[in-house]
Amino acid sequence: MSKIPNSVKVAGVDYQVVRNKEYVQIGSNKNYRGMCDSNLGVIELVAGLGESVEEQVFAHELVHVMLDQAGYDEHDEDMVNRLGIVLHQVLKDNELYFGEKQEEDRYAEIIQGKIDIKRADGHTIVTAGSFEGEVE
Ligand SMILES: [Zn+2]
Repeated sequence: MSKIPNSVKVAGVDYQVVRNKEYVQIGSNKNYRGMCDSNLGVIELVAGLGESVEEQVFAHELVHVMLDQAGYDEHDEDMVNRLGIVLHQVLKDNELYFGEKQEEDRYAEIIQGKIDIKRADGHTIVTAGSFEGEVE
């Protein structure tokens, strides 16, 4: 399952990610697969893309956004294409994530007995793997 977020923060700016657009328009051209607008804080992705392609388009738009936030007004589209492809591959194939795990992933690991269940104060309530019984 694709994990394209509903919003992404780049250099402290929140960008809303709008997926499944009927069309993505830049100027008078409606034939784009994706676009970003750093003034509005939005990334748009067109409907009907395959999962990996949509992720790749998202990564492409992220590169534009990162360049915008780094202060580059002019973007070399060929460089953005290449960096977007590599960024997507590196993030995906290495499952790179530096923050707290997503809630659903944590619940899955609790259910699978891979991690302890702790109270908010850190006290262990159930030790990993000690939970018996069927799991659906
Ligand atoms: Zn582009």
